[in-house]
Amino acid sequence: MAEKQRILIAGGGPVGVVTGLYLARHGIPVTVFDKAPKPPEDHRAATLQPSTLDLFEELGLTESILQQGFKSHHFQWRDRATHEVVAEFDYGRLSDLTRHPYVIQLEQHKTVNTALEAAKEFGDFVIHRPVEVLAVRQGADHVECDVQDESGEITTHRGSYLVGCDGGRSIVRKTIGVSFEGFTWPERFNIVSTPVDLAEKHGFRFRNYCAHPDRWVSLMKVPGEDGTGLWRCVFPAKTEETDEEVMSDEWIQARFKECMNAGPYEIVHRNMYAVHQRVAGCFRSGRIVLAGDAAHVNNPIGGMGMNSGFQDGINLARKLIEIGKGADADQLLDRYDRQRRLTAIEYVQAQSIANKKLLEEKDPEVRAGRLQELREIVNDPQRHLDFVKRSSLISMWDKSETIV
Ligand SMILES: Cc1cc2nc3c(=O)[nH]c(=O)nc-3n(C[C@H](O)[C@H](O)[C@H](O)COP(=O)(O)OP(=O)(O)OC[C@H]3O[C@@H](n4cnc5c(N)ncnc54)[C@H](O)[C@@H]3O)c2cc1C
Repeated sequence: MAEKQRILIAGGGPVGVVTGLYLARHGIPVTVFDKAPKPPEDHRAATLQPSTLDLFEELGLTESILQQGFKSHHFQWRDRATHEVVAEFDYGRLSDLTRHPYVIQLEQHKTVNTALEAAKEFGDFVIHRPVEVLAVRQGADHVECDVQDESGEITTHRGSYLVGCDGGRSIVRKTIGVSFEGFTWPERFNIVSTPVDLAEKHGFRFRNYCAHPDRWVSLMKVPGEDGTGLWRCVFPAKTEETDEEVMSDEWIQARFKECMNAGPYEIVHRNMYAVHQRVAGCFRSGRIVLAGDAAHVNNPIGGMGMNSGFQDGINLARKLIEIGKGADADQLLDRYDRQRRLTAIEYVQAQSIANKKLLEEKDPEVRAGRLQELREIVNDPQRHLDFVKRSSLISMWDKSETIV
């Protein structure tokens, strides 16, 4: 592959690294730029969906991911007010559709590090960090990218296409003038972790959503640094509560108390962040293409953001490989935009918003009706299958592949 076909990737988060690895494995030279010295280890995405585990096989990542993560065959919806398990969904229903009828719970930075380790095998996978992408440009047959290193020196890199994987605040998206329509939820989320084994104490599965009109909680288990397990709890903060209040031990212990009727529990991490639902107005401008959070962001309920970003990256990498062999670039990149933008809206945005609304429904009658619907879905084999197929993003991938 000629050097002039090098692909530039702005952002070495999960989507940038996986996209780059896919290209490198197919002999395409790749340069990734990231402003962080190493992948951040704060609490972000934690779930690898069945659809991702299938796609990762092609990258040689799945075995290592299975070794590092916790396998979760079920997820629960509970009524937090009564502690009743309303519905327990079984990924085993997917066994005819996937080689991995379960999710893997693993911290995001470990997934990124696994992909970076695999990329070391390919001399043409180059990563520059810490360097900040300042500007991108394109001509008729090339792209250019200005990056600044820690000493302040600016260098310009040239490639055939550029993929913007630089996250929700994407400089690439802003530079090409693409809108990012949607909204920001009024409340912030506080992600808290504890080593106390909530499965043993309260019968939780490794992924759980406990509905409540204003104090809902999402709970999941990840391996933690020593692999023995850490529980992550996502609590919403009320708009009138200050950051200081919400980050305090008192506030967090009060949440444990009301959710689990227990505690105080040891607190390992706490991290507040704002949550957005936005989709880029288009995913492509000429030779510059957006993927992952640069193209769409959503709330974390359901574990879909990073996983849908992997689908973007792999879909796009396959097209860039075909373009490298002479296929029509406009046709393929326009198809990428149609496939991934539409499914980001119809699946990830729609489902993550529906999940949050179900978790926090305030009207007692509507709430009772929604929880009852979950009971009915779980007891109906076809609806149960459709529900896990959709929530595990298998439906999203299948739909995207059918869009021409
Ligand atoms: C605080 C937080 C908590 C989250 N929690 C959850 C969760 O609980 N569950 C869930 O499913 N999802 C969660 N997410 C979302 C999930 O982390 C993202 O969907 C996922 O990281 C998307 O991957 P990405 O590679 O597209 O973008 P990112 O992970 O944002 O990676 C972008 C990369 O680009 C780099 N970058 C940015 N700008 C530049 C620049 N100008 N130059 C060079 N490099 C640049 C950044 O350093 C970063 O490495 C969370 C996100 C955040 C921010």
